[in-house]
Amino acid sequence: MEEEIPDPIPPKGAAAGIDVGLTSFAAIALERGTLRKVRAPKPLGKALRRLRRLHGRLFRRGERDGQGRLKTRTKNYEKTRLQLARLHRRIRNIRLDFLHKLTTELVRVHPVIAIEALDVRNMLKNGRLARHIADVGWGTFRALLDAKPKLRGVRIVKVDRYEPTSKKCSFCGHILPELPLFVRAWTCPVCGAHHDRDENAAKNVLRFALAAG
Ligand SMILES: [Zn+2]
Repeated sequence: MEEEIPDPIPPKGAAAGIDVGLTSFAAIALERGTLRKVRAPKPLGKALRRLRRLHGRLFRRGERDGQGRLKTRTKNYEKTRLQLARLHRRIRNIRLDFLHKLTTELVRVHPVIAIEALDVRNMLKNGRLARHIADVGWGTFRALLDAKPKLRGVRIVKVDRYEPTSKKCSFCGHILPELPLFVRAWTCPVCGAHHDRDENAAKNVLRFALAAG
């Protein structure tokens, strides 16, 4: 006897375009013009600040030779090292929990979700930015978002990372010659629209979801 498994029915909400940002975790543009910013969980920020403090303490507590190599491991050093390991685990858990909840919520609501296919490994070569990417867990976010929709009939649209989603005015389509990373907001020289960098990118990414949906 064969049983037909019905196709999953996609959620009825609006299509979404997601830009993973630096100031907030993500900007999400929705069909019909709504915009939403998702911040990383507060406990995570607190834990990361503590992490930096502990790293400093660990460095100070290790007795080093002339080359800066660790000479002896004191009791205090070991204590701090264990605290650090526990804190790392805690940060991983907070982040994973946040990312699971966010991705589950997204695939419950949106039938089509577009997101840039960022090459995280490539970006990791850029030091300071790398630290931040590792902190916010963009790679995990994308992996989870890829894994969840299959059972729900949700489509994930990958936007080619060479598309000028940040530099392009989402209002008139003008493309800036360049837009350095530190520029968080800009005004379009052609139509005068004022853009928050991440929100504008999310709106451009949304176009791809609408075109696919
Ligand atoms: Zn414009």
